[in-house]
Amino acid sequence: MNLILLGAPGAGKGTQAEVICDHLQIPAISTGNILREAVKNGSELGLKAKSFMDSGALVPDEVVINILKERIAQDDCKKGFILDGFPRTVPQAEALDAMGVQIDCVLSLEVADEAIMQRLSGRRVCQDCGASYHIDYKPSKVEGVCDRCGGKTVQRKDDEPETIKDRLNVYHTQTEPLKAYYSKTGKLVTVEGQEEVADTTALVLKALGE
Ligand code: AMP
Repeated sequence: MNLILLGAPGAGKGTQAEVICDHLQIPAISTGNILREAVKNGSELGLKAKSFMDSGALVPDEVVINILKERIAQDDCKKGFILDGFPRTVPQAEALDAMGVQIDCVLSLEVADEAIMQRLSGRRVCQDCGASYHIDYKPSKVEGVCDRCGGKTVQRKDDEPETIKDRLNVYHTQTEPLKAYYSKTGKLVTVEGQEEVADTTALVLKALGE
């Protein structure tokens, strides 16, 4: 199954992508994680992407399209994949179509902007493995330490309140039109994000017929 997760930053795409990945045994691909890894390694890609990411802007289409193309060509994607954070613009969706990728389902996670602000400003991520926590809703067992790998958990620069506003703006203007794009193909399914992650997961799995 080839699946796209749509939704504002902080709508819970990453968390749900992990659950679906475990459930369906297909890889979850986050272009954001790939880019952050590149920034951390100081690679040419990372240098190119950093300023866009820090300001909450989108990295240019041709850069992310190339990343995605390379990633889905890998062996582990043969049985399908979950895209978390791609496509984020109509040209990216068109590029995916042009690659001949058949999409089975586009799941849009709906969460109000006010709730997103609260979620993202409390989010902490492991700087080593990328696991995600929240200071109120999903704290790590030991503050500042990742449960999964023992790495340090930190606030992402783009989770600072001013940047969150910019990212929401970018989402509404550049990414949200994808709902109309996929609605036309009949593949769009909408799920209302719930306060409890497990409740959202139940709705997501139901929407996927699992
Ligand atoms: P995310 O973790 O998905 O919120 O992504 C973090 C940042 O990476 C975004 O704010 C963008 O700067 C960049 N990014 C990730 N995916 C894409 C994409 N598909 N198109 C453009 N920029 C992206």
